[in-house]
Amino acid sequence: MSIKIPRGTKDILPEDSAKWQYIEKTAADICRNYQYEEIRTPIFESSELFLRGVGDTTDIVQKEMYVFEDQGGRSLALRPEGTASVVRSFVENKMFGAANQPVKLYYTGPMFRYERPQAGRYRQFVQFGIEALGSEDPAIDAEVISIAMEIYRQLGLKELKLVINTLGDNESRKAHREALIAHFEPRIGEFCSDCQNRLEKNPLRILDCKKDRDHELMKTAPSILDFLNEESKNYFDKVQKYLGEMEISFEVDPTLVRGLDYYNHTAFEIMSSAEGFGAITTLCGGGRYNGLVEMIGGPATPGIGFAFSIERLLAALEAEAVELPVQTELDCYIVTMGEEAKDHSVKLLHKLRQAGLSAERDYLDRKIKTQFKSADRMNAKLVAVLGEDELKENKINLKDMSTGEQQQVDLDVFVEEVKKYRA
Ligand code: ATP
Ligand code: MG
Repeated sequence: MSIKIPRGTKDILPEDSAKWQYIEKTAADICRNYQYEEIRTPIFESSELFLRGVGDTTDIVQKEMYVFEDQGGRSLALRPEGTASVVRSFVENKMFGAANQPVKLYYTGPMFRYERPQAGRYRQFVQFGIEALGSEDPAIDAEVISIAMEIYRQLGLKELKLVINTLGDNESRKAHREALIAHFEPRIGEFCSDCQNRLEKNPLRILDCKKDRDHELMKTAPSILDFLNEESKNYFDKVQKYLGEMEISFEVDPTLVRGLDYYNHTAFEIMSSAEGFGAITTLCGGGRYNGLVEMIGGPATPGIGFAFSIERLLAALEAEAVELPVQTELDCYIVTMGEEAKDHSVKLLHKLRQAGLSAERDYLDRKIKTQFKSADRMNAKLVAVLGEDELKENKINLKDMSTGEQQQVDLDVFVEEVKKYRA
């Protein structure tokens, strides 16, 4: 029996990898404009990091994490998300003492969750995310949101819905928490066992339950917006004001909560409203987490970030029929006639490639006509034809494939001539 790819994973084949590279580069370039720098952390970490950083009552940690023991008996986990690792590194490398504050970071790489695979939900998926650590200015919240929107905009997505909410500061959260408990407690028996556990531990997450989302008590649950103290309200107002100034439209949804324990103040999601996108519409999730750095053992440091998966982004692009500009061109294809010309092409190809040009030839002894066909398939801008006669005269024929024009050039200036077509 042949061996198959593990459930919930997929190969990214050559015809698609160019899209991935394009997306990753676009996102990285945009981050650079906002002065975010890349951080790369290990794919596995101590399980303990995620118990603390993601929360030991979350689905991610309880049900979805790939945990294993290494030969030395350490409990390790494949990372299910990026924030905990970034914060661990921030603390370990004392970035809180760096000259440039806030510390602005982005990352991209595979994440692992043991989920039920379906469209837009995989067991290995690639997240792109950013984190801004060290500032509690609502302008940073707006900036973080604007980066996600800008990445999507530059990639060509139009049908997006940005939803924001606030979870308030600790005081506001506490008041809201008590109101939620009072609201759900009398009828908690009608909810799923997860929600029953959440009631005392983190009643806010009842609002995020996928099983009980249609229960009537969900619709009448007390809204955080009614429990915000002055400071939290002002903070949220500023975030909205800044988004307005950047002309980023949004909706406020007081039922939007993030699944993770350490969030406060701003929470947001970006959804695709493209028709036919499917059941899972959330493309990106993010929010502020002022308690996390301390939880991981660092000094109290505010933070905010987002993460989106490239898989869902690609699905959204497809739903909107956006074509990414990934068509590759070949600078020059060398067609050869005869053994001597073929031998000589090795050197010519090498020179072209050393000059930073893309170049190719035939390796299967194909006929001239077929070599031209290959050149076409590879989108060659130029075809250089080298035969025995040309070679004797130290010349080569160049054909511009867009105009059909031909010229003979000296072999000594061949690379320079090809370069002229570069622009
Ligand atoms: P969902 O409610 O869809 O399970 P989540 O709350 O678990 O999402 P986050 O942990 O906030 O998601 O991760 C942020 C983003 O990562 C999501 O908005 C989505 O784009 C992506 N994502 C999460 N899980 C998966 C997965 N299993 N496969 C592909 N992408 C995923
Ligand atoms: Mg999930």
